[in-house]
Amino acid sequence: MSLIVIVDDRITNRNIFSKLASSIEANVTVRAFGEPDAALEWLADNTPDLIITDYKMPSMDGAEFIRRYRANRDVADVPVIVITVYEERSFRLRALEAGATDFLHSPVDHHEFITRARNLLKLHHHQKLLASRAMTLERELEHSEQSRARALRDSSERLAQVIDTLPIMICATDRDGRIMFVNSFQVSVLGVDAAAMIDAPITTLLGEEAGRRAMALDRIVLETGVGQQAFEEELIDCAGGKRVFLTTKSPLKDAGNQVTGVLTSSLDITSRKEAEAHLRRIAHHDQLTGLPNRALLVERLTRQIARARRGDQLFALHMIDIDGFKRFNDLLGHRAGDRYLQSIAERLRGAVREDDIVARLNGDEFAVLQTSATSAADAAELAQRLLDVIAETSSFEGSPIQASGSVGIAMHPTDGVDAEDLIKNADLAMYRVKADNGGAFCFFASDMQTRARQQATLDAELRRGIENKEFVLYYQPQIDLFDGKLVGAEALLRWRKPDAGIVSPGAFLARAEENGLIIPINEWVLFEACREARTWQTRGAPPMRVSVNLSPIQFRKRNVPLLVAKALADTGLDPSALDLELTEGIVMEDLESVASDLRSLLDLGVRVSIDDFGTGYSSLNYIKRLPISRLKIDQSFVRGLNADPNDAAIIRAIITLGHSLDLSVLAEGVETAAQLARLRAEGCDEAQGYHIGRPMPAIEFHKLLSNGGLAQSA
Ligand code: C2E
Ligand code: MG
Ligand code: MG
Repeated sequence: MSLIVIVDDRITNRNIFSKLASSIEANVTVRAFGEPDAALEWLADNTPDLIITDYKMPSMDGAEFIRRYRANRDVADVPVIVITVYEERSFRLRALEAGATDFLHSPVDHHEFITRARNLLKLHHHQKLLASRAMTLERELEHSEQSRARALRDSSERLAQVIDTLPIMICATDRDGRIMFVNSFQVSVLGVDAAAMIDAPITTLLGEEAGRRAMALDRIVLETGVGQQAFEEELIDCAGGKRVFLTTKSPLKDAGNQVTGVLTSSLDITSRKEAEAHLRRIAHHDQLTGLPNRALLVERLTRQIARARRGDQLFALHMIDIDGFKRFNDLLGHRAGDRYLQSIAERLRGAVREDDIVARLNGDEFAVLQTSATSAADAAELAQRLLDVIAETSSFEGSPIQASGSVGIAMHPTDGVDAEDLIKNADLAMYRVKADNGGAFCFFASDMQTRARQQATLDAELRRGIENKEFVLYYQPQIDLFDGKLVGAEALLRWRKPDAGIVSPGAFLARAEENGLIIPINEWVLFEACREARTWQTRGAPPMRVSVNLSPIQFRKRNVPLLVAKALADTGLDPSALDLELTEGIVMEDLESVASDLRSLLDLGVRVSIDDFGTGYSSLNYIKRLPISRLKIDQSFVRGLNADPNDAAIIRAIITLGHSLDLSVLAEGVETAAQLARLRAEGCDEAQGYHIGRPMPAIEFHKLLSNGGLAQSA
C-alpha cells in the first residue's frame, strides 16, 4: 500500500493530481494539502511513499518546502516531484539542492504524471525492501557472530580446562621468547605466579640457564618451522627437587602458515627414570655379592673398547674360576658356600684398582676388567695378585679353608676386538689352566709367532718411515660456533707409506707406542705443527691455533714442557697459538706428575684440551684440579645428538660442566648441518668435523685461509 502526499495552493490542481495519483496503482491513499505548513506538520508524524508539490505557492515555494521537509534526516529517500511552469535552470537547481527527486511541467501531461510517479514509487518500494533486507541480514549476522564468539569462548575455556588438568607442563612463547600461555600444572610445579608470567620472558618462568637453553631451541623451531624431537631435560621444581621431563617443541602457525611461536610440552618422567635406574641396578648386579653381573661386564667392556678406538690403549680381561668350589659347597652346605663366595668377591675387589671392574658371572666364576694394563706384564702382575688373594686362608665355622683359582687372560686389541671375542678367549685360556690342575694364570695369546712376525715387519717399516720422512700432517679446521669463523686446526698424523698410500694412525699408533717409536714421531709432529702454524701467522691470517695430539708415552718418558718450550723457541710460534690434546687416560695414569707438567705448560702460555671427553672417566675431580682450557666432546655423542635423547643429555651435561668451570667446549665429529645447528643452540663454543671440513694436507688448508674461511660454516 502506497501513501502519496499532494501539496498545491490551488484546489483544482489538488483535485486533478489527487485523482491521477489514485489511479497509479490499486490501494493508493492520497493526502492533499493547500498549505505547505499544514503539510509539514502532518509529515512530521507520517512517512509517505511519494510527495508531489507545486513550486510556486504564496506562503512558501516548493524548494523551501522540500528543504524543511528534508531537514528531518530520516526522510532522505522519500521521493519528491516538483511541478513547475518555470523553465529556468536556477529554479530547478534550487529545488534540486533542496532535495527534489524529479520535475513535471505545468500544465501537467496526465500520462507523464502517472508514469513518473509510478516509477518513483516503484523505486522507492524497492529501496525500502532492500533496506529492510539489509537490516534483517545485519541482525542475523550480528546474532550468529555473537553465538559463534560464545561457542569459541566456551570451547577455548573447555580446552584451557583440559590443558590445565593434564599432568604435563604446557607453555607457548612468541617469536621474542615471551610467554603467551602457561598451564596450571607448570605454574604449580615451578611455583610461580601465573598472572605475572604472561608476556614475561621465558627466563622468568624457567630461570636464567634453562630459559636461555629453551630460547636457543625455540629459535631453531622458529627458523626451520619444524618441531624438535622429544628430548630429556632436568628441571628443579619449586621444592628444590630434581625432576626429569621429556620435552617436545612444535611450531605454532597462523592462518597464513607463518610460524608465530613455539609450543613446548614437557612430560614428567621422574618416577619412570627412578624405576628404570632401580631396575637397571637389579638387572646389572649379582644379588649374592653385589658385584656387577655379566650384562654389566659386557656393557663396560664394550665401552672400554670404544674408548680404545684409536688403538693406543691396552687393557686386559681376566676370567677367574675357583678350583674345586663344588667340593666346598658339598662339604659345608650352600649357606657357607655363599658366604665363601662373598668373601672371595670382597678379596678380589680389594686386589684391583678403583677403575677396574670385578664381576661375578655365575657360580664360582668371576671376571676382572683391568682398564689400564699398559703391557702384558701388567696383566700378569694383576693375575698373580688375584691368585694370591684367592689362596689366602680363611676360616669357616671353625675350620680353615684354603683354595686356589684359575685365571685366563685376554688382552685388547690383540686377543679380540669385541666383547664377545674377549670373553670367549679369556675363558679358553682359563680352561687351559684348569686342565693343567689350576692355581695359575695363562694368556690367550693367539698364534704368538705370526703376531711376532707381523710386529717385526711393522717395526722395521716404521723405522724406515721415520728415516725417509714418510710422515705428514693433515689439518682439520675448527670453527667458532658463535660466528662461524675459522679459529684453528687439529694436526692429524698420516703415514705416506710407499706401497699403501696414505695410512691413518689407527693402523700403526698402537704399535708405535708399544715399541716406543711414537716418541720420535710425535716430537716431529709437535715441531712440524708449530712450524706450519707459524706460517699461517706470517701469511697474515687472523690468530689461528693448532692442536697437537700427545701420546701417553711422551708423558711417561719425556719432559713434555721442555720439549714444547723448545718447539716454540725453534719455530717462533706464539705459545697461545698452540693447543695440546690429552686424553683422559693420559691424565689419569699419573695425576700428580701430569698436573705438574700441565702447570709448567700453562706457564709457557700453551693451552691444553681434554680429547674424546665423555668416553673415559669424565671425573669432575681431575678436571677441577688441572689447568686445562678446553673439553673436546667425543664424536660418539655428537653422532646421536639429534636422535638419541641420552646423547643430547650427555652433551648438554658436558657443556654445562665445562662452562661452570670456565672451560670452552668443542664438539668433534660434526657430520651434518642439523648437528651443527643443535650444538650451536646448546651453547657449545666450537666445532670440528666432516661437515665443516675433512682433515686436509697443509697446502689445502692454506687455500682455505686465503679464501677467508669456510662456505658451510656461516
Ligand atoms: P682424535 O684426536 O680424536 O682425532 C679426531 C679423529 O676423528 C681423526 O681421525 C679425524 O679424522 C676423525 N674425524 C674428524 N671429523 C670427523 C667426522 O666428522 N666424522 C668421523 N667419522 N671422523 C672424524 P684420525 O686422523 O684417523 O685420528 C685418529 C686418532 O689418532 C686421533 O683421534 C688421535 O687421537 C690420534 N692421532 C692423530 N694424530 C696423532 C698424533 O700426531 N700423535 C698422537 N699421539 N696421536 C694422534
Ligand atoms: Mg685429537
Ligand atoms: Mg678426539
